[in-house]
Amino acid sequence: MGTVRIAFFDAKDYDRNSFVRASENLNYEISYFETRLTERTVRLAEGYDVVCVFVNDDINRAVIDALVSMNVKLIALRCAGYNNVDVEYAYQKIHIVRVPAYSPYAVAEHAMALLLTSIRRIHKAYIRTKDFNFSLNGLTGFDLHGKTVGVVGTGKIGRIFIDICRGFGMNIIAYDKFPAEGSGIEYVTLDELWKRSDIISFHCPLTDENYHMVDTESIAKMKKGVVLINTSRGALIDAEALVEGIKQRKVGAACLDVYEEESNVFFHDYSNHIVDDDTLARLISMPNVIVTSHQAFLTEEALTNIADTTLRNVEDFFRDEYCQNEVCYKCPQVDTCRQKHDRKCF
Ligand code: NAD
Repeated sequence: MGTVRIAFFDAKDYDRNSFVRASENLNYEISYFETRLTERTVRLAEGYDVVCVFVNDDINRAVIDALVSMNVKLIALRCAGYNNVDVEYAYQKIHIVRVPAYSPYAVAEHAMALLLTSIRRIHKAYIRTKDFNFSLNGLTGFDLHGKTVGVVGTGKIGRIFIDICRGFGMNIIAYDKFPAEGSGIEYVTLDELWKRSDIISFHCPLTDENYHMVDTESIAKMKKGVVLINTSRGALIDAEALVEGIKQRKVGAACLDVYEEESNVFFHDYSNHIVDDDTLARLISMPNVIVTSHQAFLTEEALTNIADTTLRNVEDFFRDEYCQNEVCYKCPQVDTCRQKHDRKCF
């Protein structure tokens, strides 16, 4: 394999550190661009073999056409989800690889951290004691032991979250489009999950099918005081319906690591700006809402795995036909798909 040139978009200091470490003594020339990959910035990829992108880069048809015209051969996602890539359009044009798992523990543990922070009012207590205010008024929480948690999506992250919840003595119910047989998990319908859960945590991918699965209608079916945790993808929840649900005291708390319009704000410092997004501003203003900016993955272990797997994906792609982490294009030939044999899809 000759030197592979990689245009690295949406680069942050922590990305650069882990990729510099992982690529030491290897045959890569990596240029780090702070900007996201969009129609406006795609020309930066001229002369590169690979674009390396993350969750908020926008790889739509126009971007794919531009990449193909510049002879870029591979889109290497540094994440698991690929809802920001027009995968169907890319089929037969440009290959896409991803990092299917970097640390499911990081995300599951962050979901529990958000839940505990929220229901034990740690975010409030932290600010109070910093100001030498030692009053306990308004800080009453509730026990997790004995509560029912509804888990939507029981893949890698959902299953770890379930194990953590079991450690707290919680009752677990779950919904998954493809339930894991023999897992001992009690699967229920979505309607039953909305009805029975004291806490609901989302761990499924975002698809056309489950866009806004939490909306006015589903919130109406939930228990009064339900706590919602979303560390998956923002658009699973209709943010305006959530605001209404909280205002009506139906939703007791929301823990959000993702937000449907996050690509406009997350990962940037807007502390000296007036944020335009009124829905986000309203959510952040609420005492029972905690927002982290797509931080759940951010552990040393995960960053190391992301860098190692991404560079291995690139190497696999350029060395031979082997391409274990190629995204499935769900193409018409799905029955004879070579991916089952770990080969390139086309
Ligand atoms: P996974 O593929 O191991 O599991 C996903 C599960 O969701 C599977 O069991 C699948 O059957 C199920 N599923 C698919 N469609 C569904 C639907 N419509 N309704 C209910 N369940 C459905 O994925 P994972 O590694 O556990 O990751 C889950 C999600 O977490 C990812 O899709 C991604 O969006 C998100 N994620 C977030 C972060 C973060 O930093 N916040 C990091 C990594 C992943």
